[in-house]
Amino acid sequence: MRNVIIIGSGPAGWTAAIYAARANLQPIIFEGHEPGGQLMTTTEVENFPGFEHGIQGPDLMTVMRKQAARFGTEIISSLADSLTQIEGGFEITSQGKVYQAKTVILSTGATARRLGLENEKRLYGKGVSACATCDGFFFKGKNVIVVGGGDSAMEESSFLTRFAEKVYIVHRRDEFRASKIMQDRVRSNPKIELILNAEVVEIHGIDVGHVTGVDLRDTVTGDIRKMDIDGVFAAIGHDPNVALVKDVITLDEKGYIKTVPGTSYTNIEGLFACGDVQDHRYRQAITAAGSGCMAALDAEKFLAEH
Ligand code: NAP
Repeated sequence: MRNVIIIGSGPAGWTAAIYAARANLQPIIFEGHEPGGQLMTTTEVENFPGFEHGIQGPDLMTVMRKQAARFGTEIISSLADSLTQIEGGFEITSQGKVYQAKTVILSTGATARRLGLENEKRLYGKGVSACATCDGFFFKGKNVIVVGGGDSAMEESSFLTRFAEKVYIVHRRDEFRASKIMQDRVRSNPKIELILNAEVVEIHGIDVGHVTGVDLRDTVTGDIRKMDIDGVFAAIGHDPNVALVKDVITLDEKGYIKTVPGTSYTNIEGLFACGDVQDHRYRQAITAAGSGCMAALDAEKFLAEH
């Protein structure tokens, strides 16, 4: 039986691993199906302290991974399939193998939301995307829509102007929730146009196998108009990845794991949570990393006391 198993490999998971490994707890980490988490689909990270001129998201995750490995973290490049409570700890299965640990740190993060339209699924990868950094390149000289009014929508639309001829931000209200600096950047970019009080209610192109247009509904008047477009990027927030524990753990009103304020303690003894899976408020790389540190320290203390 191991001391600690960490599930999820974003900034929270890697920070927990670095702290647990340096505390000689010989942690195992399951990287999951999106190793590195959301930062792998980000470009420049300008607000992670320590990088005066910014760092690319994937580079930051590569360094964190190496740092965790350097102190002896055992890295398993697969998904944890199940998690059950057993006498004195937890059992995790992954690809038919069974692992046991006295404590578990959950850092499974959150996943990008979809618009929920039938054609969105069918045209996914054929003009519909949730990741500008992954797919932006395919839209050279084209016209695209970014849906959303938060920092992600601002960031993705700015990034897409490197490739696209024109980027339209479609937002369901007339006010953005994005930070002022990100809004200013968007408003001063001549390649970006704002379409406010509008939502995408249909995506066209099934007949030809790629996105050709959308139907936009005016959220004030209810009027629907067609718009020719080559790509649709959804940047409308995230849902926490709680599938492993949702039947046993206490969640908050938004479906995120509930932790005791100021700690990483969940309602289950020996099970700690950190990063975006328990944070719908800040959701920053640095706050995720900080909470990963808290989870490792909490697990260490728990092990010492039991
Ligand atoms: P967010 O702040 O939750 O914004 C989601 C946006 O999508 C909102 O404007 C929301 O509209 C809209 N939306 C939600 N569901 C929708 C639907 N079904 N149809 C149409 N629109 C929908 O999410 P986010 O932009 O991903 O940002 C998440 C967190 O990450 C934030 O804390 C943000 O500051 C942070 N972040 C930071 C950076 C950076 O600093 N570089 C970059 C990216 C993200 P309403 O406003 O009407 O609710």
